[in-house]
Amino acid sequence: MNTPRPLALLGGTFDPVHFGHLRAAWEAAEQLDAEVHLLPANVPPHRPQPAVDAAGRVELLRLALAGQERLRLDTRELQRAGPSYTVDTLYELRAEIGPQRPLVLLLGMDAFAALASWNRWLQLFELAHIAVMDRPGPAPAFPAELQAQVAARRAGLDGDWRGHGAGRVLFLDVTALEISATAVRGQLAAGLSPRYLVPDAVLGEIQRRGWYRGGSGAGD
Ligand code: ATP
Repeated sequence: MNTPRPLALLGGTFDPVHFGHLRAAWEAAEQLDAEVHLLPANVPPHRPQPAVDAAGRVELLRLALAGQERLRLDTRELQRAGPSYTVDTLYELRAEIGPQRPLVLLLGMDAFAALASWNRWLQLFELAHIAVMDRPGPAPAFPAELQAQVAARRAGLDGDWRGHGAGRVLFLDVTALEISATAVRGQLAAGLSPRYLVPDAVLGEIQRRGWYRGGSGAGD
């Protein structure tokens, strides 16, 4: 039987994109044999407003993704007015790709632990599989309602999830890179350089535009 190639999504603020996002997305693409779309969020409902506007964050993502085909940029959430709820994005994508093709929502462990606070969170499992990627640091506790979903839906990578469009929870073993956008912004604000934490082209553009700068400017 010919099962269609999974489509996996990594949503985020990408303020700015860094190697933690890129490497995790790349390894997820390889482990799931999936096409991966990176979806920058417009007005993230649970977060303070990003330091750089949507157009700027997209510009940095384009630079980061240049030269490869496996990770692609999807700016659909930026075209929508108001908050970007993942559940709405999944409905939209599901309508485009039909019911069969596996759709996989990629989430870092920190984001997954907070899933029960997301808008219409239980509907997410009707629309997509969820693949959880490890992040360095102590494993966050899951609330009981999330634990119950994991117990009911957990599947192995080599299990039958590819034969279903949605509904399973997978745990991916990705290289742990202790990089966060918060730390990258903090370095820039302190006049330090996040070289080797973000792609060179991203760093160059941040410096050229003077983004995320504190009083003293980035350091190299
Ligand atoms: P911030 O520090 O501003 O909170 P962030 O670095 O966590 O940002 P986001 O854009 O909020 O980045 O993250 C988007 C998604 O990527 C989330 O699911 C998050 O868990 C995941 N992610 C971010 N950094 C990593 C990393 N180093 N390893 C694995 N997953 C990551």
